[in-house]
Amino acid sequence: MDLWFVFNDDKVLTYKENEEVHIPTYDKIDFLDIKEEYYIGSLKGTECYACEISEDKIYNKPYFEFIDIRSLGIILGERFFLLLGRGKQIINWDKNNRFCGKCGSEIHKLDNERAKKCDACGTTYYPQLSPAIIVSVIKGEEILLAHNLNFKEGLFSVIAGFVEAGETFEESVKREVMEEVGIKVNNIKYFGNQPWPFPNSVMIGFTAEYESGEIKVDGTEIGEAKWFKKDKLPDIPNNLSIARKLIDEFLRS
Ligand SMILES: [Zn+2]
Repeated sequence: MDLWFVFNDDKVLTYKENEEVHIPTYDKIDFLDIKEEYYIGSLKGTECYACEISEDKIYNKPYFEFIDIRSLGIILGERFFLLLGRGKQIINWDKNNRFCGKCGSEIHKLDNERAKKCDACGTTYYPQLSPAIIVSVIKGEEILLAHNLNFKEGLFSVIAGFVEAGETFEESVKREVMEEVGIKVNNIKYFGNQPWPFPNSVMIGFTAEYESGEIKVDGTEIGEAKWFKKDKLPDIPNNLSIARKLIDEFLRS
């Protein structure tokens, strides 16, 4: 039976059975007024769909609860987190891109690919992604972790930032680390990547080594940055994120 990811803003409808949280199958939610559905892929042979409803309360239905995407990702694991992110981004893309940026006419979805087209001027539009690099900087036995001013108090993570137009990922790594903490890095190596749906990013992970410089935070994005030894780490991100995987890799090394 197909799984249905029913969104209301950043929350998703879950169904509780035997004390376990599930994404509902269609028979559980067929009472909902669903105006538009989006195919988002398959999970172990089960087809998955996303949709959005305007009401976050399911009246008189005791087994249902809306849970935010990040919390639900932690409960259900990474494969579900990816589908949650994909569903959310596709719904947002459809909602927020109704008209042609070139001529202002209404655009419509294509059947054969995830895109929209303007019939008036022929322009095709694809869902927008914003690539960002994320990098662990290592100096001997220590890792560079920074407290972003948007983080909750005491939380530190690796350096990250958006790739600029015309920039390679490696150039982006060097620029971001220099801009945010004033450090020069070398020996940049690809680590892995992760779609990050807040709101439409994909994180490309790297490891790098310290070359030179003293830590000097930018003060606008980063409030504090330090070198940390393995046994003296501060609060770090949860294990859904590639940031955590980079830090775990440092701990294993
Ligand atoms: Zn147009």
